[in-house]
Amino acid sequence: MRADLHTHSNRSDGTDSPRTLVQKAKELGLDAIALTDHDVTAGWAEAVEAGAEFGLRVIRGIEMSTGVGDTSVHLLAYEVDPDHPGLVAELEKVVTAREGRIHAIVAKLNELGVALSVEEVFAQAESAASIGRPHVADALVAAGHVKDRAEAFKTWLATGRPADVRKYRIELREAIRLVKDAGGVAVIAHPWARDSKKLMTEEFLSELVADGLRGLEVDHPDHDEAARAELAAIADRLGLVATGSSDYHGTGKTEKFSLGVNTTSAESLTKLLETCGPF
Ligand code: AMP
Ligand code: FE
Ligand code: FE
Ligand code: ZN
Repeated sequence: MRADLHTHSNRSDGTDSPRTLVQKAKELGLDAIALTDHDVTAGWAEAVEAGAEFGLRVIRGIEMSTGVGDTSVHLLAYEVDPDHPGLVAELEKVVTAREGRIHAIVAKLNELGVALSVEEVFAQAESAASIGRPHVADALVAAGHVKDRAEAFKTWLATGRPADVRKYRIELREAIRLVKDAGGVAVIAHPWARDSKKLMTEEFLSELVADGLRGLEVDHPDHDEAARAELAAIADRLGLVATGSSDYHGTGKTEKFSLGVNTTSAESLTKLLETCGPF
């Protein structure tokens, strides 16, 4: 049994529809995937339907934008009640903030002499329920300013680059409690990737366990072998479930993030979801 527990569709910043994503997973011989679009559940219904059609288990997830102080942390929330009022309100808040942020990013780019309109960015996000920097990157590519998303991030959009604008995000510990309250399970996405590595010490993670954290994404393309080994040992000591996933975004990211490149075992998946509510 192989499950890829972190994938994106075009309901956020991936490039495949939820149905195509599920179909590709089936063709690759995967047994289960979790659809974890950024801050939205908009792809769930189509993915679940496709799962029934192609004979593949679909786990319903969200990759929530959270933070600790200045540090951005992505939190994977699985099998939450999509109608939980607190969760619905929080997701609406982030999605709205994401839209406002596009105006701020475009204004910065214009100030920097890059000709781009908000309409060109929204045109790149027609299937998306949550808009983000990758759509700005796609608009920059379409306008001929850069060759691909990677170059757009490196030149303008990555954290600390000239056109980066920070977005509103819920506090991490509050998010973990919210996920639990909504009947789901929370897993820290790519804990040692980019900015969160310094923050995610064993001591800090043990505090999150007290809030209800259930798992750590150990096998992720942004973790090298040494990081995976260390994180697996930490997960073991803290009683956290170690997961594996690709963070697939279709053509929006490189081959390093190919669908199914890392997977989670049946045993870990069962353990992870055993505390979920009846949703
Ligand atoms: P946002 O959610 O709008 O802050 O954008 C973050 C998303 O941008 C991440 O989830 C990635 O999918 C994408 N991203 C971040 N860095 C890069 C990069 N260097 N190349 C391509 N995509 C990236
Ligand atoms: Fe993304
Ligand atoms: Fe992420
Ligand atoms: Zn992701």
